[in-house]
Amino acid sequence: MIDIPGSSAASRAEHREGIGAGRYAPSPTGDLHIGNLRTALLAWLFARSTGRRFLLRVEDLDATRVQPGVAEQQLADLAALGVTFDGEPVVQSQRLPAYREALIGLADRTYECFCSRREIAEAASAPHGRPSRYPGTCRNLTEAERERRRQTRPPALRLRADGARQTIRDVLHGEITAEVDDVVLLRNDGVPAYNLAVVIDDGCSGIDQIVRGVDLLPVAATQAYLARLLGQQPPIYAHVPLAVNAQGQRLAKRDGAVTLAELAAEGMGPDAVLGLIAESLHLDAQDERITLDAMLEHFDPDRLPRTPWVVIPVRGLRSGT
Ligand code: GLU
Repeated sequence: MIDIPGSSAASRAEHREGIGAGRYAPSPTGDLHIGNLRTALLAWLFARSTGRRFLLRVEDLDATRVQPGVAEQQLADLAALGVTFDGEPVVQSQRLPAYREALIGLADRTYECFCSRREIAEAASAPHGRPSRYPGTCRNLTEAERERRRQTRPPALRLRADGARQTIRDVLHGEITAEVDDVVLLRNDGVPAYNLAVVIDDGCSGIDQIVRGVDLLPVAATQAYLARLLGQQPPIYAHVPLAVNAQGQRLAKRDGAVTLAELAAEGMGPDAVLGLIAESLHLDAQDERITLDAMLEHFDPDRLPRTPWVVIPVRGLRSGT
């Protein structure tokens, strides 16, 4: 369990009516790298520039990937850059009853799925398969078939989307309409799935603006659809460009000094990191020490770079855009 001070039920519930909120929702699986920090900063800028509150959520449901102390370090790194949050963090591992309750309400919109990852990959790679979508193998099993399959494998629960289409609004990508996927809502080890938890928590926290990496754009329509099923108003999105290495691959640990601690060891303190991020967003002020407030003053979503941020970690970092 993550020990974030004050993440109690009472503090979580505080949610002033009428004021929307943005959020940053990292998974505590490793220290944030400079690309993650940039996304967090953008989420803060989008929220603050539109008068919204800004909340932190710790997405720690996957106990096999959570690392002790990482959530606290992520919070400290964000604070070192000046990113602050309103209210207390929401910690997903403390919210299991809320997910279970929502699943009960969705019972007639879900079905049991017995597929392994390999079976899904095989079906998706077959002629006419669609790699990023569930191929529907278990969608129409008979009760007798389900009973037989339950003997060998516990089921996951999937959303029954019935081929619905959903439109989302994204500040950077415009209106996007996509087919809703039959995503997993409850994993077959009994852990609520990311797509369920994220939608319930955004709804419960009054989040109406979601800023995150563009890698999550493909699940946005499905999440917005789920939000509507749960009686929530879908949020407005801004899916921001990712940080990549010189080869154009997503930035990762192996790319050298990429976390705040590693950059500090290279002689680059938090102020310099903030300056580098500001420069990458074209929010740096000539001859002035950059602050979050100065960035906020110049922030204009229309002028944000739309291409990936190329980070070159050679003796510190240089921005490639
Ligand atoms: N926890 C997810 C991540 O670290 C982000 C989820 C979201 O922003 O919707 O990638």
